[in-house]
Amino acid sequence: ATAVDWARVRADFPLLTREVHGKPLVYFDSANTGQKPEAVIEAVDDFYRRHNANVSRAVHALGTEATEAYEAARAKLARFLNVRADELVLCSGTTFALNLVAYSWALPRLRPGDAIVVSRMEHHANIVPWQLVAERTGATLKVAELDERGDLDLERLYALLTPEVRLLAVAHVSNVLGTVNPVREICREARRRGIVTVVDGSQAAPHRALDVAAIGCDFYAITGHKMCGPTGTGALWARREHLAAMPPFLGGGEMIKEVRFEGTVYNEPPHKFEAGTPNIAGFVGLGAAVDYLSALGMAHVEARERELLAHFNEALAAVEGVRVFGAPREKAAVVSFLVEGAHAHDLATLLDLEGVAIRSGHHCAHPLMQHFGVPATCRASLAFYNTHEEIDAFVAALRKVRRLLA
Ligand code: PMP
Repeated sequence: ATAVDWARVRADFPLLTREVHGKPLVYFDSANTGQKPEAVIEAVDDFYRRHNANVSRAVHALGTEATEAYEAARAKLARFLNVRADELVLCSGTTFALNLVAYSWALPRLRPGDAIVVSRMEHHANIVPWQLVAERTGATLKVAELDERGDLDLERLYALLTPEVRLLAVAHVSNVLGTVNPVREICREARRRGIVTVVDGSQAAPHRALDVAAIGCDFYAITGHKMCGPTGTGALWARREHLAAMPPFLGGGEMIKEVRFEGTVYNEPPHKFEAGTPNIAGFVGLGAAVDYLSALGMAHVEARERELLAHFNEALAAVEGVRVFGAPREKAAVVSFLVEGAHAHDLATLLDLEGVAIRSGHHCAHPLMQHFGVPATCRASLAFYNTHEEIDAFVAALRKVRRLLA
């Protein structure tokens, strides 16, 4: 129980008032993308109505306003993550951020005989870039496996961290199981062995108060659209020494100091990694999203989501024939499940007719599906703006759908 008026918070999200197939919407797909509060929608609208211009190129008033707004968003996001703004590269999302590390840090450094460690629970965005690097450099990929609960088997993980390992890439929070990994401890163990660490924070930033500096990683990636911000926004935090040593990923305007055919001088980080016109309006929106979440308080967000998850687990456990995947020690409000005798997609399709939006499929985590021996699961993912009534409506819909499929 917190002092926050959650009904008022929910009212900040206009989309949540709509109906789907004649039923009130129950949106349980926030791990896929989050809904946006009025403040974010207004910030984007206001930027286009009153301030729109490109960043950094124009001396006129609008150009200055646009640049200041874009840099203000970087500063807000840096404060939110507890990192330095000049170590925060703004980009289109986690996928871009992880590829930036793969192409600018790993590709020029790795050699045949080197190894990269990833975990079994990674999103494809934290697997495929490393496979591409391994293919091109001759490095190998090693996999950290899970225990029965869906937690990383830490002993086995540390045993994998042999001298040829150069890089360890791991999710802070699993998008399928909700597992919250002890990234601080993992990064400490890796660092002790001279291994560079990349943490995928996509599913952590929307749900936990973050202190990226305290985690002790080398790189931390986030995506804006899962934390109340617009799509096409995200960031990579990296230690200054890495950013200074890394070659640019993309070339173009904004990322240079001086261009000559004899040789080009790059801009200082983080601008060195921000070629071309960025998603300015999107970042203005992300700045508003960070303001919104900060005002709400991430500790309140976390407490609210714990409460909702406890209710959700209890309600789901009362439905017969449900298999829940994973029971990690520390878990965000993401639940993967299957109903006996029903295909995941059929279940999700029928739930949609009841107004309930959940995701079905592999959740961009094929290796995790292979671990459980299933092609797909259903996934309900909650956010602070969901309600206890929605959980009851979901379970009623699930019971109805189960009867239909039986
Ligand atoms: N990693 C994780 C854990 C995710 O959940 C997602 C989004 N589903 C991503 C990476 C990729 O994020 P984006 O598509 O925004 O780049």
